[in-house]
Amino acid sequence: MHTKTFQKNKEDFICDNCGHKNTGNGYTNHCSQCLYSKHVDVNPGDRGEECKGLMKPTEVFNRNSKTYLKHQCLKCGFIRNNRISETDSFDEIVKISNQDK
Ligand SMILES: [Zn+2]
Ligand SMILES: [Zn+2]
Repeated sequence: MHTKTFQKNKEDFICDNCGHKNTGNGYTNHCSQCLYSKHVDVNPGDRGEECKGLMKPTEVFNRNSKTYLKHQCLKCGFIRNNRISETDSFDEIVKISNQDK
């Protein structure tokens, strides 16, 4: 058992969609290459969700001059908005923002 349980999540993770090894920085919860996420949180960072479905990036939008990604769970349909991280693939962001035009 680890003693520091209240730290921000900084764990590295392998993307279930594309296999990219992501280095955790405590802020991003999605793959920096394909931008897929996983339905693992009830509240951001708590890892309390049982679904564990793959979450597909469906939309890019701006709000209050910040850029967000809309993720939809492919298993249960749950939708969550996540901030874009500066390490995210710009090509993928462009691809997603172009697909709904
Ligand atoms: Zn990926
Ligand atoms: Zn789900």
